[in-house]
Amino acid sequence: MGKVILIGMGGVGSVVAHKSARLPDIFEEITLASRRAQSCEKVRRLIGGNDIDVAQVDADNVDDLVSLIEKKQPDLVVNTALPYQDLTIMEACLRTGVNYLDTANYEHPERPGFEYKEQWAYHGRFKERGIMALLGSGFDPGVTNVFIAHMNKNHFDEMKYIDILDANGGDHGLPFATNFNLEINLREITQEGKYYEDGKWKTTPPLSVHDSFDFPGVGKREKYLLYHEEMESLVKHFPEIKRIRFWMTFGESYLKHLEVLQNVGMTRIDEVEVDGVKIAPLKVLQAVMPNPADLGSRTKGKTCIGCIVDGIRDGEEKRRYIYNICDHEEAYRDVGSQAISYTTGVPAMIGAKMMLEGKWAGKGVFNMEQFDPDPFMADLNAYGLPWQEQVL
Ligand code: NDP
Repeated sequence: MGKVILIGMGGVGSVVAHKSARLPDIFEEITLASRRAQSCEKVRRLIGGNDIDVAQVDADNVDDLVSLIEKKQPDLVVNTALPYQDLTIMEACLRTGVNYLDTANYEHPERPGFEYKEQWAYHGRFKERGIMALLGSGFDPGVTNVFIAHMNKNHFDEMKYIDILDANGGDHGLPFATNFNLEINLREITQEGKYYEDGKWKTTPPLSVHDSFDFPGVGKREKYLLYHEEMESLVKHFPEIKRIRFWMTFGESYLKHLEVLQNVGMTRIDEVEVDGVKIAPLKVLQAVMPNPADLGSRTKGKTCIGCIVDGIRDGEEKRRYIYNICDHEEAYRDVGSQAISYTTGVPAMIGAKMMLEGKWAGKGVFNMEQFDPDPFMADLNAYGLPWQEQVL
């Protein structure tokens, strides 16, 4: 059905590659590209697909990307590199007239925080060029946006209050490690908490608002209020939402390590000079910590990510909870990765599949909730992330 280039062969990219390679009628030709050729070779070896191409590319460099795209002539570029590369890859797609998909909102390397402004600004040019960009096709953002679109389409006349709840009950046996790219993860959770209420964004000191919740499949955990990018697009596309919040669980040991690392300055993203070399302490930390992509074989337990929606149906107040439970060990058996990479990579593959099949089509830049949730929801059940719903 189409040719794809997958850029960024880390934890998430590896899952997208595994899952896409199993659907050769849809993903007819696959090129794995990354900053280091060895990352692509490693994934190709794991998949065992000799017909998969590999390429080295610097995704910070638009010309480098353009020459790879011109050589391979793909229908779609899937970006599972870092959020820093979103704009350069979008720019290369625009120059070459190729569709684009990513899993995370653009971030400026030197500035903490993220917002859709710079990616949404591409809408007019993508539309004019007749191509499509699908933003945030991971789990959260990604499946959580689709869950909300499903609630809106199938269960509510009006959605009022939304809580997005992300629990990782996984245990890798290490005192401290992150389950996806450490630098991106720590930048996300050390910034101010932020939520939306009555038309306004309200901020809270980092990790200061928390309470406990009994997560299906995981159990009772402390969850902390964080800012997360899907809230920005959801309030844009569903303006009737009165309040939306995002919550994530953290264990005591994780928070203790984080506090110490912050106190000693190791989470700083500004550069310091050491023996004449300038480097951000967070990058040093990343270099000495375990690679999240290698945690799969040692991680046990489950994740549970979902949304609770309060609203009105047929004139009555309703409350529904929709979620997926993903088992780290089952994910490892399926594709050799832990559940965080899995829960991100499977939706990225499904988003790409929706685009190649033409089930999700458009010209311009789109978020997940702008399309019909039904075919995506069916594929979640078919490709390893089954969901469940409860009336609360
Ligand atoms: P990793 O660090 O494991 O992988 C990132 C990959 O990007 C690496 O393989 C690296 O290449 C590659 N890369 C980095 N810079 C460049 C560059 N300049 N050119 C080409 N390749 C580059 O991260 P994860 O797999 O954990 O995360 C990938 C993405 O998924 C991130 O954007 C993250 O924010 C997002 N994510 C989204 C989630 C969601 O639910 N929406 C959840 C979790 C993650 P190499 O190995 O060759 O050096």
